[in-house]
Amino acid sequence: MQNIKDLTLTEIEQHLTSSGEKPYKALQVFVWVFHRGVGSFDEMTDLSKELRERLKENFYISRPKILASEKSKDGTTKLLLELEDKNCIECVLIPEEERLTLCISSQAGCPLDCGFCMTGKGGFVRDLKLSEMVDQVFAAKTLLSANQNITNLVLMGIGEPLLNYDGVVKFLNIAVHQKGLGFAPRRVTVSTSGIVPMIERLGKETKVNLAISLNATTDEMRSRLMPINKKYPLKALLDVCRKYPAARNRHITFEYILMQGINDSMEDAKRLTKLLEGIRCKINLIPFNPFPGSEFTRPSEKTILSFQKILLDNKYAAIIRASKGQDISAACGQLKGKLKK
Ligand code: SAH
Ligand code: SF4
Repeated sequence: MQNIKDLTLTEIEQHLTSSGEKPYKALQVFVWVFHRGVGSFDEMTDLSKELRERLKENFYISRPKILASEKSKDGTTKLLLELEDKNCIECVLIPEEERLTLCISSQAGCPLDCGFCMTGKGGFVRDLKLSEMVDQVFAAKTLLSANQNITNLVLMGIGEPLLNYDGVVKFLNIAVHQKGLGFAPRRVTVSTSGIVPMIERLGKETKVNLAISLNATTDEMRSRLMPINKKYPLKALLDVCRKYPAARNRHITFEYILMQGINDSMEDAKRLTKLLEGIRCKINLIPFNPFPGSEFTRPSEKTILSFQKILLDNKYAAIIRASKGQDISAACGQLKGKLKK
């Protein structure tokens, strides 16, 4: 039996036509599954009884399993979800003034092992399936009150989304489909450590926003912090960013974790302004979030502000982003999940 949430619209259509059904019925099924989020085929009342029975013989509809949810004093809520193979992942609901953002995981664990990130320390198990990304949205929705709606999606949870490219693009297509999850593309952001060839494809094949975890201004330091930089060094990364289609409402965000004595010097700030020249972007400065056993510390407030000032003086939009949910380990780089190897 297959989880119907692992099928794209085209795949549902292929399944239906191969069993002699009219292709237009695929959209009806798609709407029930992804837009209305029903839990059973019997609720699909505009389909014939026969078709419902036949779907039941081939498919099931998963229900997200929330093992735990924890609410921070700043309102951020972290959900621990159990997958069918008993691995666990996390997603985080982040309320801000006019937004309610859901931060989604794309893999169980992360294979990239960046030095400053707890996620990377926990090892890697596998890519998440389409259904497992969709169910993070449905799980989060069960926690909302009647007047609340998730307004933004960010793929910034556990894992490197662009190493699960096919699964992630299937998910993005359903996320932005009017009759799927229904998010506007400009409200969906994929964050990557810099998988250069996949950034190029993402730019061509989707309309979502891109965020790059940059975190250093020289190859030497970036390779030390983020081993993936040895494969895709700064020049290649920034070249592909320069070519990323910058339609209206579409800009690149560069994330820069500030770590004391590592990447927080004024020379770093100046180099950063040079590196990003000619890229329509904004810069998020994230003071390092510590975790048990981490070897870095965050810079002083004064250093953070001086770093930001250099960027602002050079006409960059640079924001200091205190990540939310630190008291429940829900902040950037603190997600872990539970992995069965
Ligand atoms: N793998 C992708 C998506 C995960 S996003 C990526 O790296 O972009 C995780 C974000 O949290 C990244 O921007 C990363 O730079 C940031 N991050 C990781 N560890 C952190 C820490 N300890 N403190 C602050 N930010 C951190
Ligand atoms: Fe993986 Fe991103 Fe963490 Fe690096 S920062 S280990 S790529 S999740």
